[in-house]
Amino acid sequence: MAEPEFEQAYKELVSTLEASTLFEKNPEYKKALEVVSIPERVIQFRVVWEDDSGKCQVNKGYRVQFNSALGPYKGGLRLHPTVNLSILKFLGFEQIFKNALTGLNMGGGKGGADFDPKGKSDNEIRKFCVAFMTELSKHIGADTDVPAGDINVGGREIGYMFGQYRRLRNQWEGVLTGKGLNWGGSLIRPEATGYGLVYYVEHMINYASGGKESFKGKKVAISGSGNVAQYAALKVIELGGTVVSLSDSKGSLIATEGKGFAPEDISKIASLKLKRQALTAYEGHSFNYIEGARPWKHVGNVDVALPSATQNEVSQDEAEALIAAGCKFIAEGSNMGCTQEAIDAFESHRKSSGGNAIWYAPGKAANAGGVAVSGLEMAQNSQRLSWTTEEVDAKLAGIMKDCFENCLQTAKEYITPKEGEFPSLVAGANVAGFKKVAAAM
Ligand code: GLU
Repeated sequence: MAEPEFEQAYKELVSTLEASTLFEKNPEYKKALEVVSIPERVIQFRVVWEDDSGKCQVNKGYRVQFNSALGPYKGGLRLHPTVNLSILKFLGFEQIFKNALTGLNMGGGKGGADFDPKGKSDNEIRKFCVAFMTELSKHIGADTDVPAGDINVGGREIGYMFGQYRRLRNQWEGVLTGKGLNWGGSLIRPEATGYGLVYYVEHMINYASGGKESFKGKKVAISGSGNVAQYAALKVIELGGTVVSLSDSKGSLIATEGKGFAPEDISKIASLKLKRQALTAYEGHSFNYIEGARPWKHVGNVDVALPSATQNEVSQDEAEALIAAGCKFIAEGSNMGCTQEAIDAFESHRKSSGGNAIWYAPGKAANAGGVAVSGLEMAQNSQRLSWTTEEVDAKLAGIMKDCFENCLQTAKEYITPKEGEFPSLVAGANVAGFKKVAAAM
């Protein structure tokens, strides 16, 4: 069967490894690449559940246990009608290297089902999650495979699943992350992906400006309106930036008159999302609603773009529009947010424009904060302790700093940028993540 998303992610990784000096320095890693590209195990199962009218419904469930060289398989569960094996293999593959970049001991995996939560009642979502976990519970464990959330799986869904796991096993263990605070969750986990993304980009801004600039005064375009987009927006606002867009699958909200979203706007959007309502139901801020469009061609001049919705949400055209609009930093809150053509446009601008270039950071580095705090949740569960907000946030900030430095230094060492050129963070992330996994294997 064709696996376009997985092939895209695989080729993206390999093209940067081959353009670096990695295989010259470590010829044995060529074999490691062949080995790492095949999941250790793929579990597929059916999920049978009863809807509110008493009818039987069935969905396809999956868990891809991709690589456990660095620790238990770790990665989210996605519930979306588009979910198939190609998408979960791409996500699981990315997760291996992302998890390596956190510096914590976690392997890579991903799972989910082609279940569409849109239009479902809370009761139906609960029934689905319980049925899904009834099978998944046979394949996971605190030291073997630890799932978490991803698109359409937040604290509520993790709660339904965790309850079923405990019922079936008659034991409490940290088998899922993203749990609620009073039943084993970590402070800052809901915020972690968005906050971590902004921390990563702060290092990019700081490096590019020789320590002179920060988010203060920057115009920031964000796509998506889920967990990642919401907390990225809140952190940008806190740091003095202006958030000029948010979006969902139906269209984009673009702030007018340079007036960005306020924290109250983000809270209102968060409560709409919880009720599974579209952004069309949102009122209370001066904005243009652009139906059927992503924000990139409509945001005007921005300094930073943070794609935080889903894969392949920035095309070549949109990449070129962002470059033309003077955007200087682009970092993915989503996984594989940019198409290969968009990455090529950013990378060729980086190579040809010296200190005026746009600088691109891939999701496996820039959005690693989410899974990093999942790793910290696992550590707290094992210790039977809960750390404070300050402790977790400081650890997250430290992990994102190390991740940025690792990508930067690896790019300098294995790709050798020209004088005045920003090092390639996409190549740096790929080489650094892969090298760690290959050595462990
Ligand atoms: N779904 C998130 C990701 O793409 C988090 C995974 C986790 O916390 O295990 O990294």
